Amino acid sequence: MKSWAGPSYPKEPSSRADVPVLNLFNTASAQIEPVEVKDFYRMYVCGITPYDATHLGHASTYISFDLVNRYLRFSGATVAFVENITDIDDPLLERALRDGVDWQDLAHSQIELFRGDMVALRVIPPDHYIGVVEAMNQIIKSILLLQKEDSLYAVEGDLYFRVRRDPEFLQRSHISSSAALEIFSQRGGDPDRAGKEDRLDALVWRRQRPGEPGWPSPFGMGRPGWHIECSAIALHYLNPSPQDDYAIDIQGGGSDLIFPHHDMSAAQGLIATGQKFARSFIHTGMVGLDGEKMSKSLGNLVFVSRLLADGIDPMSIRLALMGHHYRSDHMWSAPEINHAENLVSRLRLNLSRVEVAETSPVMVEICIAMSQDLNTERVIALLVTWCEQTESGQSGGSAGELARFLDELLGLAF
Ligand code: ZN
Repeated sequence: MKSWAGPSYPKEPSSRADVPVLNLFNTASAQIEPVEVKDFYRMYVCGITPYDATHLGHASTYISFDLVNRYLRFSGATVAFVENITDIDDPLLERALRDGVDWQDLAHSQIELFRGDMVALRVIPPDHYIGVVEAMNQIIKSILLLQKEDSLYAVEGDLYFRVRRDPEFLQRSHISSSAALEIFSQRGGDPDRAGKEDRLDALVWRRQRPGEPGWPSPFGMGRPGWHIECSAIALHYLNPSPQDDYAIDIQGGGSDLIFPHHDMSAAQGLIATGQKFARSFIHTGMVGLDGEKMSKSLGNLVFVSRLLADGIDPMSIRLALMGHHYRSDHMWSAPEINHAENLVSRLRLNLSRVEVAETSPVMVEICIAMSQDLNTERVIALLVTWCEQTESGQSGGSAGELARFLDELLGLAF
């Protein structure tokens, strides 16, 4: 699938030995740990299901992984980045049915909106932006690998994966089996279906039901389960090296994907290939509105496209979302976009001055803050201080150098 137009970015990153090592919170180890220093990283971020795109929760997630991508590139590495689109899924079909529209038309229109929002927010596009429908052959190949490992069984023509084949199942999520059962049923799972060997086993192929789309496969007409889609797309398009301890370096997404989605994807990846799936599982917090979780069911989504249509500068949206730590659940409120707009105006004005406060120290401090689990709140405080220093008449810095730095490392262009 076509990705989106990328913001300008240096094609040949120069090695910068003085950039601090990036530290990130790994959900699997439940601690902040240094990202291994390498020349080449493989990063997979779970994409949207194309309906109700792009709300601020999505924007916050993709900006956060853009910051990871930019930091690794800034330190001189190459990052292979793959993102999927769940362009066939129960919620998409249900929404299309409710609204009386074709599910493909709905998906297409939402993907277009998403692309436009990502361009506006200056998110570097993935090298491969892959829809489930176009990856059907790769997904079927992954299911065949699981079948070869005797890890599948059928229930009335649907295929299930034995999640307990992975000895580390649930350890990445740090939850008990009983908590997992509860979450599983809330997030699209079917723990109570008769005939399953283990209530947590994951659907990998759903035979076609009347009125539903289906694709031909060795298991009959049908469509894949959610978790196998991401492990198959990641393993195909990131092309892991069998010599590495892990197939990929980073799997990312919102914290609502920790279980079951990422745990089950990782289990399937391990059994299909014999290689552990992801070294780091990185998750972003949820964004709420006026004291409530922002969700489709509550109907309180704030859309990026709506804010842009209202004339909000996309850099203000980016900066406002960076005002919260990426792992924290936080509330969106109108005043914070006003604060961000203020700061954008001040930065724009100060970066256009000939005489500005020293810029080298603030760039060093911003790098240190970003290396510490993406401390964007500290970054914003540093930018405010630099504005104050410049406005009070301090000099000795290079506005052009700081502007290029903010663009390259933080995706902030003024
Ligand atoms: Zn995914």
